[in-house]
Amino acid sequence: MNLDFLDRVTDPERVPPGRTIESDAVVIGSGAGGAVAAFELQRAGLSVAILEEGPYLTGRDYGRASPLEAVRMLYRKGGLTFTVGNQSVLLPAGLCVGGTTVINSGTSLRALPQAVQRWRDEFGLTDLADHLDDTYARLEDAIGHAPVREEIFGKNGRIFREGAQRAGYRGAVLTRNERGCRGAGRCFLGCPDDAKQAMNVSIIPQALRAGARLYTHCPAKRVLIENGRAAGVLAPRGVTFRAPTIIVAAGAVYTPLLLRRTGARGRGLGRHLKMHPASRVFGLFDEEIRGWEGVPQGYHLEDTLREGISVEGIFLPPSLLGPVLPDFGPRHDALMQQYNRFAILGFRVIEDTEGRVFPSLSSWPILWYWLKRPDIDRLVKAAAISAEILFAAGARKVFTGIHGFEELSSPADLKRLREARVGASDLELSAYHVQGTARMADTPEKGVADPSGQVWGVPGLYVADASAMPSTPIVNPQLSIMAFATHVARGILSRAGRPIDERRPSHLPR
Ligand SMILES: Cc1cc2nc3c(=O)[nH]c(=O)nc-3n(C[C@H](O)[C@H](O)[C@H](O)COP(=O)(O)OP(=O)(O)OC[C@H]3O[C@@H](n4cnc5c(N)ncnc54)[C@H](O)[C@@H]3O)c2cc1C
Repeated sequence: MNLDFLDRVTDPERVPPGRTIESDAVVIGSGAGGAVAAFELQRAGLSVAILEEGPYLTGRDYGRASPLEAVRMLYRKGGLTFTVGNQSVLLPAGLCVGGTTVINSGTSLRALPQAVQRWRDEFGLTDLADHLDDTYARLEDAIGHAPVREEIFGKNGRIFREGAQRAGYRGAVLTRNERGCRGAGRCFLGCPDDAKQAMNVSIIPQALRAGARLYTHCPAKRVLIENGRAAGVLAPRGVTFRAPTIIVAAGAVYTPLLLRRTGARGRGLGRHLKMHPASRVFGLFDEEIRGWEGVPQGYHLEDTLREGISVEGIFLPPSLLGPVLPDFGPRHDALMQQYNRFAILGFRVIEDTEGRVFPSLSSWPILWYWLKRPDIDRLVKAAAISAEILFAAGARKVFTGIHGFEELSSPADLKRLREARVGASDLELSAYHVQGTARMADTPEKGVADPSGQVWGVPGLYVADASAMPSTPIVNPQLSIMAFATHVARGILSRAGRPIDERRPSHLPR
C-alpha cells in the first residue's frame, strides 16, 4: 500500500504540551462515520484535524499477527467490552485508525427500504432519505462494492448455501467493500492484504492526501463550549484543538459520553442503545470443510429478514472456537481435533430491546441492556433455523450457544429447541452493530441532533457516526453510517456556503 500521506499523521507526543492547534473543523474518531465526514469536508476545502484514540496500523502490522495478538492490537479492551443486564453481551469494537471498520467482515449493504421509510416518516430525515441512493452510490464507488466471487467463496459458504436451498430458505451472496480480496479468511483480525477497504486503507488516506491532519493516540477528553457554541476539543497534555465545527464520531458507546458535558438539550442522550444481539451455531461434518479458507461472511438469508432475523456465514480461529465448544478434557480435545470439519453460521436479531450508556468513574462505561422476551424468542428461532440449515447440509451434530441445547444430535432435537422457553441468561451473546445513542430527529423530544446532525442547543457541534442512526438499517450498518456522515458533511458545507465536491472519489489518486 502506498503510504505517501504519513507525513500528515502526528503523534501528540510530538506536539508541545499546552499548544493550541487551529483548523476549520475537528473530527473525533476515524471509523465509518468520522473518516467519511473528515474526507468530505477536507475535499471541499475546509481544513480538518482528525483525532483518533488508537494507533495507525495496516496489514503490514497485523497481517501476520496471531489471532490473540491481532485482537490486542486492534480491539478496544482486547475485545472485552460488555453489557450488564439480564445477560452480558460482548460488544467488540476497534481502537485504531479506521475504528471498527478495520475488524469488521466487510459486508456492505444498503439499508432496506422499510428502514429508510422509517427515517423519513418517524424521525423527519427527509433530506437524508432524498439523497440516499446517490450517497450510497458515491460511497460504493469510494470503497468498492462487489459480490463475493465463487473462487473465494469458501466451503463454509457453500455448505451454508446448499443447506439453505435444501431447507427451503432464500439466500443471497453478500456484497463487500473490497478490492483484490483473495479470501484470506481473517477479516475480523484486520485484512492482511489491505484488500478490505476499511477506513484506514481507503477514506483516511484520501482525506490525508487532500490535506487533513490526523492525530493518533489522541483521545478527545472534552468538547469545549464557549458562548453556547462549540469552540474546540481538549486533548491530553493540555493540547487544545480549536475550530468552529466539531464532529463527534467516537462510536455509539463513547459519543454520548463526550456529548454529555456539552449542554446538549435533546432527549435520549445515551438511551436507545441498539446492537443486533447475535450468537452462532457450529456444525460438525464428516467431510473436510477447512472453514478458514475463503471469505467467512459471504452469504446470508434474505427471507428471514422480514421476521427480524439475519443469518450469515462466519468462521472462527481455534483460539476463539475452543473456549465456546462444550466439554473439556479428552472430549473437548476430540472435538478440537476435528476443527477442519466445522462449519459455522452466525445469526442476529433486529431487536426491540433498547439499552442505555451510563458514564462511570473507570474507563469502562456502563452499558445497560435488558433483553426483552420477543428478542429472546427470535434468537432461539434464529438458532433453530441455522441448525436446521446445517443439518440439511449434512452436519452430524450441531453445537449451539444456548444452555440446555449445547449439542443437537439430529434434526429431531430442533423441535425441542423451538418449543423451549429459554431465558436471557441461557444465551451466549455478542453484538456488532451498536447504534442509536445520540440519534438524529426533527424535534429535540425525539432526538439529540437535528436532521442535519447538529446537536440540539449547541451550534457547531455535530454527530456523525452510528449514534446518529435513529433506527436500524435492518442489515449490516457500516454503509448507512457512512451515508449519515456524508449527509452531515453536506449540511455543514452548505451552511458554510460551499458545495460538496460531487466528483466521484474513484477519480482521486490511490
Ligand atoms: C467484528 C465486527 C464485524 C462487523 N462486521 C460488519 C460488516 O461486515 N458490515 C457492516 O456493515 N458492519 C459490520 N460491523 C459494524 C461496523 O463496523 C460498525 O457499525 C461501524 O464501524 C461503526 O462506525 P462508527 O463510526 O460509529 O464507529 P467506529 O468505526 O467504531 O469508530 C469510532 C472511532 O472513534 C475512536 N474513538 C473513540 N473515542 C474516542 C475519543 N475520545 N477520542 C478519539 N477517538 C475516539 C475509536 O477508537 C474508533 O476508531 C462489524 C462490527 C464488528 C465488531
